Amino acid sequence: MQTLLLSASDPKTAATAANLIMNGELVAIPTETVYGLGANGLNEAAVAKIFEAKGRPQDNPLILHICGAEQIELFCHHIPQKAYDLAEKFWPGPLTMVLPARDCVPKRTTGGLDTVAVRCPDSAVTREIIRLSGVPLAAPSANISGKPSTTTAEHVLHDHDGKIAAVVDGGSCRVGVESTIVDLTDERPRLLRPGGITPEQLMEVLGDLVVDKAVTAQIDKDEVVKAPGMKYRHYAPSEPVVIVSGSREKAAAYIRSHFEPGDRVLCFEEELPLYEGCDPLSYGMEADVNTLSAGLFAALRELDDPSIHQVYARCPVGGGVAYAVQNRLKKAAAFHIVDAEEEV
Ligand code: AMP
Ligand code: MG
Repeated sequence: MQTLLLSASDPKTAATAANLIMNGELVAIPTETVYGLGANGLNEAAVAKIFEAKGRPQDNPLILHICGAEQIELFCHHIPQKAYDLAEKFWPGPLTMVLPARDCVPKRTTGGLDTVAVRCPDSAVTREIIRLSGVPLAAPSANISGKPSTTTAEHVLHDHDGKIAAVVDGGSCRVGVESTIVDLTDERPRLLRPGGITPEQLMEVLGDLVVDKAVTAQIDKDEVVKAPGMKYRHYAPSEPVVIVSGSREKAAAYIRSHFEPGDRVLCFEEELPLYEGCDPLSYGMEADVNTLSAGLFAALRELDDPSIHQVYARCPVGGGVAYAVQNRLKKAAAFHIVDAEEEV
């Protein structure tokens, strides 16, 4: 199959992509978070192609992308007022809500669950594709399962060229990490995945938020979890990653004393001079966490190279968007963290 590369700025692109979606094909779509691998979320055969292309475990459910809050009730029931409050405040934007699913949503889309995740993305061309195709787009991140997510059309082609019908090129993703996921099916709202909408922002609307264990710790493969996707190895380059925490100076001393040929250092722009001779790669400015979230996956993909032995990574501290960056990096490192303050 020849994969079409469609430009988001071409006025014909939305109609071309929508036609492919209506024909049950896979189309990679730009969003503000990461590129998604989109298909008609109500068509089981089309959804099955997503799982096949990504090598995604069947029990890992997909997010349905919709045009706006008025579409929530088409695919969900028992919708609490707080879902509409969140949509009003954060949609279109990087927030996904888990709600009870209507029967029209196939179990293949929900990974067998009776709940479904919905989100309205902040990309005009993607919303237009959804509107023209007349169906919600099931769209997981457009990477091969387990690998770092895709934040450019080139990343998508690297993973899927020749295997999907088209990629809509909308440039680099602004946020760069996947959406925040909040589960609204229990009495208390539960954060299943941190992202561009921060826990602090959610608290302002909800007044209450439980952080799911999967956000902060490694989950066993056999454990029953709220977000099945969170138990799988994620975002990882081929070689091991170890996070080195602590002050700039202590971390540099630790890394430089352990560094061996074939290792790489993933650090903040401000730290590059500390790692001269260690082939450092910066993923953004520590002083501006949005540059870190936007740059993280491109850097992890660059480091996905079998000739690299080990990666020492620096991780931002604190809440807000830094919380999402920490979550992705910790998962890429399988929660392997060394505290340089405690090491000599
Ligand atoms: P991705 O599309 O690659 O960003 O992955 C989607 C994420 O959404 C995975 O971590 C899923 O576990 C989560 N998710 C999707 N649907 C549900 C649902 N119904 N309940 C809980 N988590 C969900
Ligand atoms: Mg993903």
